[in-house]
Amino acid sequence: MTNNTGRLVDGKLQPPTRQLAMVFDLNKCIACNTCTIACKTQWTRDEGMDYMWWTITNTLPGKGTPKDWEESGGGFISGNKMRPGHMPTKEDFGAAWEFNYDEVFQGGKGNKVHLKPKGNPQWGPNWDEDQGGGEYPNSYFFYLPRLCNHCNHPACVEACPRKAIEKREEDGVVLINEKRCKGYRFCMEACPYKRIFFNFEKDVSQKCIFCYPRLEQGVAPACARQCPGRMRHVGYLDDENSSVYKLVKKWKVALPLHGEFGTGPNVYYIPPMAPPRTGADGNPDYSKPRIPPEYLEGLFGPRVNEVLNTLETEMQKRRDGKESEIMRTLIVYKWPQDIFPSFSKEPADLVPVKGVKK
Ligand code: SF4
Repeated sequence: MTNNTGRLVDGKLQPPTRQLAMVFDLNKCIACNTCTIACKTQWTRDEGMDYMWWTITNTLPGKGTPKDWEESGGGFISGNKMRPGHMPTKEDFGAAWEFNYDEVFQGGKGNKVHLKPKGNPQWGPNWDEDQGGGEYPNSYFFYLPRLCNHCNHPACVEACPRKAIEKREEDGVVLINEKRCKGYRFCMEACPYKRIFFNFEKDVSQKCIFCYPRLEQGVAPACARQCPGRMRHVGYLDDENSSVYKLVKKWKVALPLHGEFGTGPNVYYIPPMAPPRTGADGNPDYSKPRIPPEYLEGLFGPRVNEVLNTLETEMQKRRDGKESEIMRTLIVYKWPQDIFPSFSKEPADLVPVKGVKK
């Protein structure tokens, strides 16, 4: 890995030749967290990584992972001015718990003692899963998978005094060079999405690597490949044949999360639709949407309602027996070629290289 200093011109990081991106269809996510476990199994089983979830799927509305990350600062205010940020602790992320295995299995207490976490934990990853918001019968929730956004203007890169974080020239993937990292953790404060973790055993920061060793062999990232909902699209933003290009650039129905943070994220979301509200008489109430529009605008920006209208129109076309290219793309009839065309090779064909597992 090179470090980014060679790509700085007048102190500014030069854009990569190509940019990889992901699109998540929130209308297909069931929060099974298969993606989360696929990533965990592949990359974060080593020393000091037990509390790390490089990708995780939270319930919204909710405090998320780490706790209250949306209010934790970081990113930029008006262009290049960095916004102060909070450094999340291991407890904010939800440190791994110990359980009373000894007491249950070797304590001689028969079936009088049951398995429970030690120490009365008050927070954990996905602590508020499926709680959501609103009031019955018009409560609502949806799922939001998150990972490093491999941003165009990464606050983590700007914040690192060691120039230990690189944005790759060939695909825009943002990587931490652990040999250069000295564990200052300014990157953790600066990232507004709070997607950097500190390895307390190795004294280095670590995060999602977009499965670059798999990408280099034409294999999709583990989270996307394993997703049973086929909701994670992966591709280059300049590849006009990719679903990523069509959803982000052509049809403009995929939106960045908290674009106002100013980092230019490269993970995009098809916003969540919801069933109609239930009226006082028990019948559907179409007078206003179930998920408050202002809540969605706060997440995905002012275009979100226009996008939801487009999705509704396209769905209606299908109900009427007409063709809809947008719906066809989101359904993903041909897997894997339709969802990650440049990365549809079988993981079983990966040639083993150091640090890469099948
Ligand atoms: Fe850096 Fe955070 Fe952007 Fe990832 S999401 S590139 S860690 S600023």
